[in-house]
Amino acid sequence: MRPLPRESAASYLTRLAAAYHLSAAQLLDGLHITATGTPAAPPATEIHLSNEAARRLSDFTRIPPAHLARALPRRPPPAAIGTAHAAAARWQPAPPALQPLPACTTCTIRRSPHQAHPAWVHPAPDLPRIMICTRHQQAASDPRHPTPLDIRPVPELTRTHLGVRRRPTATSLTWASTITTRWYDHHQHLHERWHTRLSRLTTANPHIPPGPASPTLTCRNLITYPETLTLAAALDHCPRALTHAPSTAPSSTTWPTA
Ligand SMILES: [Zn+2]
Repeated sequence: MRPLPRESAASYLTRLAAAYHLSAAQLLDGLHITATGTPAAPPATEIHLSNEAARRLSDFTRIPPAHLARALPRRPPPAAIGTAHAAAARWQPAPPALQPLPACTTCTIRRSPHQAHPAWVHPAPDLPRIMICTRHQQAASDPRHPTPLDIRPVPELTRTHLGVRRRPTATSLTWASTITTRWYDHHQHLHERWHTRLSRLTTANPHIPPGPASPTLTCRNLITYPETLTLAAALDHCPRALTHAPSTAPSSTTWPTA
């Protein structure tokens, strides 16, 4: 069974084990990989594999190690485990900002042998923190959503994504995200446009949990996606706008009010 691009290791291991009617812990045991920490389902938990453990997983799946490593973006593993010659794995809680997002369900079904188990993927590093599948019109912007959202009623999200000719630089993207987040949370610029997107998304996706975080918050990155990219592209075109910016990532509390 192949992993999805950028699938979290915990997600892939859980799905792989489920294909054999096993738990992830049982599968690791069967591969003679010693696991520590508390196994739990993604997205709140990630698993780190030592090089030897990754090699055994590659042997078992018959996916070459390089392919497996490309598909499963490995967060820097704890120093003690990354270089361990032993086959070791460690389950670790993932902080919310680093948790993966629900993957497109149709793409997941196509890569699952029998019964599809939900998959979780890490967002691309050079785009706002979202998962978007333009082919199946699904997207996600928050790990608190158990499944992706149907974005057919908001076609500008797909158009924006397909229209990206050049990915923005990391600095411009960070600034653009900070600015649109600020507008969205406080200034309510573009209020009507964003409100329309939010109401279309919540109507088409009654499964969005109403709390504890409201859909206004959990859908924010998706709703502001077109404007964030436009702004990031503009910042890349006029780098002087960033000349006086601090070199570190901006924080919403230091951004001057308009
Ligand atoms: Zn898809």
